[in-house]
Formats: sequence, structure tokens, C-alpha cells
Amino acid sequence: MQYDVIVIGSGPGGYVAAIRSAQLGLKTACIEKYATYGGTCLNVGCIPSKALLDSSEHYYNAAHAFKTHGINLDNLSLDMAQMMKRKTEVVAKNTAGISFLFKKNKIDGYQGIGSFKDKNTISIKKPDGTTEEITGKNIIIATGSKPSGLPFIQIDKKRIITSTEALTLQEVPKHLVLIGGGVIGLELGSVYARLGAKVSVIEFMDSIIPTMDRGLGKELQKVLQKQGMEFYLGHKVTGANLKGKEVTVTFDAPNGDKKELKGDYCLVAVGRIAYTDGLGLDKIGLTVEERGRKVTVNDHLETSVKGVYAIGDVVKGAMLAHKAEDEGTFVAEVIAGQKPHINYNLIPGVVYTWPEVAAVGQTEEQLKASNIKYKTGSFPFRASGRAVASGDQDGFVKVLADATSDEILGVHIIGPRAADMIAEAVVAMEFRASAEDISRMSHAHPTYTEAFREACLAATDNRPIHI
Ligand code: FAD
Ligand code: NAD
Repeated sequence: MQYDVIVIGSGPGGYVAAIRSAQLGLKTACIEKYATYGGTCLNVGCIPSKALLDSSEHYYNAAHAFKTHGINLDNLSLDMAQMMKRKTEVVAKNTAGISFLFKKNKIDGYQGIGSFKDKNTISIKKPDGTTEEITGKNIIIATGSKPSGLPFIQIDKKRIITSTEALTLQEVPKHLVLIGGGVIGLELGSVYARLGAKVSVIEFMDSIIPTMDRGLGKELQKVLQKQGMEFYLGHKVTGANLKGKEVTVTFDAPNGDKKELKGDYCLVAVGRIAYTDGLGLDKIGLTVEERGRKVTVNDHLETSVKGVYAIGDVVKGAMLAHKAEDEGTFVAEVIAGQKPHINYNLIPGVVYTWPEVAAVGQTEEQLKASNIKYKTGSFPFRASGRAVASGDQDGFVKVLADATSDEILGVHIIGPRAADMIAEAVVAMEFRASAEDISRMSHAHPTYTEAFREACLAATDNRPIHI
């Protein structure tokens, strides 16, 4: 078969690239090695983790918050098998949705491992052992990433696990020791803490979610501690050893003291690395970067081989589903001769703990490092009528605006529905709004979004109304 575009990998980067290519009239194929489409995100990432976060939040609220609302439950119990079954159904619905979209857009789907024979020919090794070759004028590598580990820790996938196994546990751990206080650790740690596990987080840096604005990590740590999680910051893990059902994690304190924690599970969540195994990049003269194993691309996301592009987790930048999707659309449009644009500064980042954490633009640390003069406006959710009504009063909105022009440079939120609230900040910043612009716009009352307006009022000339 001869195609205009062949996409290797069907995660949010790959499937969006395929759909956008087909929309633009390009004859398109997508190769996926797994039995279902959707990649990490739909199968073992965003979607199953959010399904479990939602279920565990219901359980936690039933156990801890319902009473204050005047709802009493007798004999609350957890049906872990049903929780996992529901998660599997949610995943199945989403992956089936991609099959439907491929059919609708007349995209040819191939199941198997795709590898380069030459720059236009892809060989597909199918599950039954047979091989098929297809050719394409343009190839898009969208093969994503996999969990990275630590060289001195053997992941047995039963007790010493990655996020993939943490999404399928059949029991609530008694004590989950978490290596890494980043996004995966805190989201999946939250799931099991809410279900009753003792959760200990060992983080190498001196803050959790260290790449986000420092204020967010501090506040999130405070709230998660209230929910029962414990933190060892600035600690360096030196080993994790399994004996029977017990994992002993050893680590060094900042002052050099040797420590250890014993748990029944240890989740290693120290980042992900690009995945290019079996792709045969060497056949077309491509190599991967030493650190992170990423494929190098130019501003058009094209590799050094003309007509071969790469997108999503396998290339530089944030490992986020929506960044991969944006790049999928971008590359399809480049191939079709258009001149698309991605504003990488305005790709929001979200952590789906409760309260949620969401941010876009520059952090205070980045502004300071680049010597940009800025003003800060903050508004706490305890002063929001909506938050008081729902009982979600932890957190704040922080707006950073240019000291002279008042243009919004960064928005950092920790609080209820922060993941949805951040969209307003993205729109505002895409249109280069000033903090005053937002503070003069009507925000429905009572909503959490009023806190964004108040933070803008505070940033403009320190005149929030409700605090
Ligand atoms: P992937 O989704 O990794 O897809 C790559 C696909 O390529 C896979 O299906 C793989 O099987 C296939 N493939 C690889 N090699 C070949 C080959 N040779 N032939 C054929 N197929 C191949 N991001 C967010 O934005 N929000 C979230 O809430 C979020 N939650 C997450 C939770 C977890 C637990 C994890 C692990 C990740 C989460 N992420 C989240 C990150 C997100 O999943 C990734 O950024 C995103 O999936 C990257 O998309 P991609 O298309 O680049 O690659
Ligand atoms: P991460 O980079 O977010 O966090 C890893 C953490 O581990 C960091 O804080 C790091 O300092 C720490 N660490 C590294 N080595 C360590 C060591 N030896 N000992 C102790 N701590 C150590 O990575 P992740 O949480 O594994 O997530 C991987 C990727 O998946 C991220 O890039 C993220 O963008 C993506 N993801 C996104 C979401 C979301 O958008 N909500 C959810 C899950 C995953």
C-alpha cells in the first residue's frame, strides 16, 4: 500500500496526527503494536488514572466529607474489584472511540510493530508472526515513552512497580512507598491514600512537583499531609529490596543519615523515557539523544531525514497528552503545506490530586532567573463563596503580571477544579490579556473562577474585593 502519511504509534500524538492528516485529504495509515488504540494515555496513563482518582475521591468523600453535609452512611465498604472493573470499562470505551474515529476518517489501522526498512518503507511485524510492508511519502514517529527506573532497583512488577502496575492492583496496599514526588507519584499515591493505604513519598529534590511554581508544591504538600501522606524531601534513594511480600527501601537523608522504610508495595515514579525500541531508526541513519533517548527534530518537528517527522513524548518538551495532540495536528498541517504554530509557553500543566494543581506560563522562579520585573496577585479559596459552599477551601490562585504592562505572564492555581479553571488563563494569555482586562470581565457568581478574577484584581493594583 502507498500512503501519503504513515503514523507509527496511536497515542494522543499519533491518533490526532492520523485524524488531522485524513481531514486534510491525505491517505493515511496508523500502526499500533498494542491490541487497542490510544497509547499510554488511554490505556495505562491519563484515562485509567483519572478513573481511579474519581472513584477514590468518591470513596474518600463518603468516608470523610459526607457527614458534614448531613449524609450518614452505615457500613461503608470498598469493592476494589468493581473499582478496577469500572476503570477497565472506561478505558475500553475510550479506546473503542479511537477505532470509530479511524473508520469515520477512512484511516487504515495496522496492528503490529512498525520498523523502518528505508525512509519510505515500514515493515509491520504482526501478532501472528507475519510481516507486511507499506510505503508512505511521509512518516510520523509517535512511539511515545515508557517508565524509566533507577539502575540499582529491580522492578519485579508485582511489589516493586511502575505506574502501569499501580493502575491494576487488586488490593489496597498497607504501606505504599513511593519513589518520586512528581505527577505520577502524587496522583497514584492519592488514589491509594484515599482508599486507606499509608503512603510515604521519597523525593530527591527539596520540594514535591519541583518543576512547578514553588508555592504550589508547598501548599500541595500541606494538604496531602492532612490527607495522611508523609514526605521525605531532599532524600536520595539508594535501594529497594524485596523479601517475600515486604519491600525495604533504603535512602539517605540530606545530612547523610541512612534511613529505611518497609512497605508491601513500592512505586517507582521517577520520570519516563522516550520509546524507540524495535523502530529500526538506524536503518535511516537516525540516532537518539543520550539523555532521555529522545529523537531530535527541528522547529517543524522533522528529523534530519526529510519526510520523517516525530512528535509527542518521543521528542523534546513536556510529556503531556495535549502537547502530543497539538504536535499531531501541527505535523499533519505542515505536511499538507500549511503554516501552523504551537505556543509552547502556553501549554498548561495539571496535577489531578485533590485539590487539583494547574499552571500555565512562567513561574516566579523563571521570571526571577530572566530578570523580568513582575507583580503578584493571590487569592485564597477560603475567601471564595463557592469554595466555602462546597467545602473545598484549600489552595489559592496566583497571577504573575508584567510590572509595567500588566500583561499576565503566569497563572498558578491549587484548588477545586483547577484543571478546568486554567483554560481561562490559557485563553487570556493567548490573547495577551492584562490582569486588569480579566478583572473587568464578568465572572458568574458563585463560581471558582471568581478567584482568578480576584487574583487579577490583586495583581493589577492590589484591590481584591473579597479579602
Ligand atoms: P504514547 O501515548 O506513549 O503512545 C505511543 C504508542 O506507540 C503506544 O501505543 C505504543 O504501543 C506505540 N508504539 C511504540 N512503538 C511502536 C512501534 N514500533 N510500532 C507500533 N506502535 C508502536 N498526560 C496528560 O496530559 N494528562 C494526564 O492526566 C496524564 N496522566 C498520565 C498518567 C500516567 C499514569 C502516565 C504514565 C502518563 C500520563 N500522562 C498524562 C502522559 C501522557 O500519557 C503522555 O504524555 C502521552 O500519552 C504521550 O502521547 P504520545 O502519543 O507521544 O505517546
Ligand atoms: P516527574 O518528572 O513528574 O517526577 C519524577 C520525580 O521523581 C521528580 O520530582 C524527581 O525529582 C524525582 N526523582 C527522580 N529521581 C529520583 C530518585 N532517585 N529518588 C527520589 N526522587 C527522584 O515524572 P513522573 O511523575 O514519573 O511522570 C512522568 C511523566 O508523565 C511526566 O513528564 C508527566 O508530565 C507525565 N504525567 C503527566 C500527568 C498529568 O499531566 N496530570 C500525570 C502523570 C504523568
